[in-house]
Amino acid sequence: MFLKGKTALITGSTSGIGLGYARALAAEGANVMINGFGDQAEIDGYVEDLIRTSNAGALHSGADMSKPSEIRDMVADCTKRLGAPDILINNAGIQHVSPIDEFPDDKWDAILAIILSSAFHTTKAALPAMKAKGWGRIINTGSMHSLVASPYKSAYNAAKHGIAGLTKTVALEVARDGITVNCICPGYVWTPLVENQIPDTMKTRGLTRDQVINDVLLAGQPQKQFVQIEQLASLALYLCGDAAGAITGANLSMDGGWTAQ
Ligand code: NAD
Repeated sequence: MFLKGKTALITGSTSGIGLGYARALAAEGANVMINGFGDQAEIDGYVEDLIRTSNAGALHSGADMSKPSEIRDMVADCTKRLGAPDILINNAGIQHVSPIDEFPDDKWDAILAIILSSAFHTTKAALPAMKAKGWGRIINTGSMHSLVASPYKSAYNAAKHGIAGLTKTVALEVARDGITVNCICPGYVWTPLVENQIPDTMKTRGLTRDQVINDVLLAGQPQKQFVQIEQLASLALYLCGDAAGAITGANLSMDGGWTAQ
């Protein structure tokens, strides 16, 4: 339990990859504040499980990552009730797929706010306490779309490339403060979101389950396998340890070979 006594704040962690990060950090004894939307009873269940696993504290914040004042309040609330975040994981994200000349303005604004600007606001609010302690870990969730593009995802690709640049900048600014800042860039990940798309795609395209997985979802992923949430969580845990103390400003791909092409 190498994270006993540490506090982690993870945005967008009521589902998928973020919840995987929360579970992995709690299993190492960290206090965890999760954040995001969803069914409150289900979220309360996740919080209870985190407390049982860590034998430490866990709380949920429903703060909206598109609203700077709610972000600042979330960091303050975490500091007051669980401790100032030693580990900050910026993971909240949404997607919208459309040609740029038809891309809705409000979707562009929301994607940039939730993926990119929220990481600016959380980092700004959390850094002073990390500097005071002389220790911190900031992990941003990028994507293969932090490094390469796909058509019709202008806002997502711009925000994810942006978070790669923010990662490098903050890493340089705090390089002498005992704080590392890195970006994990996953390929297609097996989340409930992806799994739930399969039956509809099978029906609309007249394909088998294997065809949907290999020829549609994993068409660009050379390993033809989804990245697993647990694999990403292991990398996040590694980045939190002393062994990773010299890794900073890195965009670390875990994408089944996507960006090697
Ligand atoms: P998900 O939909 O399962 O989880 C997204 C989380 O963000 C949820 O907890 C949701 O409630 C929260 N969220 C959404 N809007 C929010 C807002 N305004 N304020 C606060 N929370 C908000 O998705 P996921 O697949 O686990 O994705 C998590 C991150 O990983 C995202 O940044 C995504 O871009 C990135 N990513 C996912 C994949 C993939 O294949 N699933 C690949 C590369 C990168």
